[in-house]
Amino acid sequence: MFRFRKEVYLDNNATTKISKSVLQKMTFVLKNVYGNPSSLYKTSHQSAQILEMARESLAKSINAAPNEIIFTSCASESNNTVLKILFEKYYPEKSKIISTEIEHPAVLTTLEYLKGKGAEIYFLNTNSKGDIDYAELERAIDDKTILVCAMNANNEIGSILDIKRIASIAHKKNALVFSDSVQALGKINIDVKDSNIDYASFSAHKINGPKGIGALYVKSGRPISSFIHGGHQENGLRAGTESLHNIAGFGTACLSLEEKISNKEKISNLKKYFISELKQRVSRIKINSEGNNFLSNTISATFIGANNEKLMAALDYRGISVSAGSACNTQENAPSHVLKAIGLSDEEARATLRFSISDKTTKKEIDYTLRAIEDYFNDKLPKIEAISPKKANESLLMDKSTLVLDIRSESDRKSIKSIPNSLQAEFLGIKKYLHKIPKDKRIIVVCQGGVNSPFTAYYLKSKGYRNVSFIMTGMWGWKFANKDYYDRYAGE
Ligand code: PLP
Repeated sequence: MFRFRKEVYLDNNATTKISKSVLQKMTFVLKNVYGNPSSLYKTSHQSAQILEMARESLAKSINAAPNEIIFTSCASESNNTVLKILFEKYYPEKSKIISTEIEHPAVLTTLEYLKGKGAEIYFLNTNSKGDIDYAELERAIDDKTILVCAMNANNEIGSILDIKRIASIAHKKNALVFSDSVQALGKINIDVKDSNIDYASFSAHKINGPKGIGALYVKSGRPISSFIHGGHQENGLRAGTESLHNIAGFGTACLSLEEKISNKEKISNLKKYFISELKQRVSRIKINSEGNNFLSNTISATFIGANNEKLMAALDYRGISVSAGSACNTQENAPSHVLKAIGLSDEEARATLRFSISDKTTKKEIDYTLRAIEDYFNDKLPKIEAISPKKANESLLMDKSTLVLDIRSESDRKSIKSIPNSLQAEFLGIKKYLHKIPKDKRIIVVCQGGVNSPFTAYYLKSKGYRNVSFIMTGMWGWKFANKDYYDRYAGE
């Protein structure tokens, strides 16, 4: 959709490119292995074998037994499952779950849900390095505690928690331990026997495998019960004919984990180079992911005073994919809970980007990215203005030389009404609307939370629109800043 000169993918914590060997295996399975793994005739034997080989492959890579692995549709399912099943089993005799402030939304929102059912959720404090206070953990566990839920490695800043220590503290006090290990797999060694955790979740698409397949490790003998009722698949715990091509892809991706981890030093050197160059080339920068306690592929950088959405869109204009540390939902553009937990202000969190590299990332790509960042701060990239919601007032928006371009979805427009006289367009389908957007007007792009609009603004720039800006924090922030105007006119 957007113009770019080169494609540099630095968002490997979000998802990864499927590897050649995975693609080959999946294609083979899709083409040739169609039997239902549960059937008894010969056509299905190969399916059953492929299923079990994939299970063995994942089990081996985390030092588990194959019968301790349950395939799920994704890590979010695995996370939901452990938390809900354990709460259901122990409540009301026990009701407390201890967790960290920096968990993935698949954990945090499930905990919120369980809170509504009567769970007491205790969040451990996080320090500036994204680690917890282990003494606080010890103090927090009481005889009402069901579970300690702590991720192995964080997705936004890459901080690594001492899971073995957490398990040792928890077990002394009879609490179970669950660790979301999605970001740790393939980046650091995982040995579930050595760390002695009870449950862990994994996802194939973070390790060059396919999307839509995850796994749950349940230590032998630990409580678990059927969570999709039906047939006897996955030991009767998760019914439904297995997604064999995805499972085969997951198993194949696991075969490359050792090699990936052995490339850690190369990745780590690239990270060090990137950070040291960033510090030299950008005058006001703060790195949130430096040191031994962080994944070697993750760089969280705060470009003090900058707007991360605008910077992210500017990098996208140059073909570079990175992620803002913020929760990129189109509703409320809240600053990242992880960055807040490690002590960043709202403003700093909104100035932070995450770069997550892979074993395939090259120095050339890093240099290209550094140059784009430098160009951005030296005003060598096309300019788009980020208008604060307060400044996007009635007189600016109603000016005859202004066109407001609303790129929100139907449902977003229902939840917050549109600015009068705005042109309704679509974020992904913006191309279709170009003929309606005049080149001689000032174009102000608005989306729901302020995340999408800078991308569209840069797209318009690439199409020759000279005067393009966007409203920071989108309609969400605009509505609050212009309450009187919104109440009087919006939606007319
Ligand atoms: N947990 C962590 C730490 C993650 O980074 C992710 C993916 O973003 C998930 C869970 C969810 O994984 P999935 O996409 O497989 O549901």
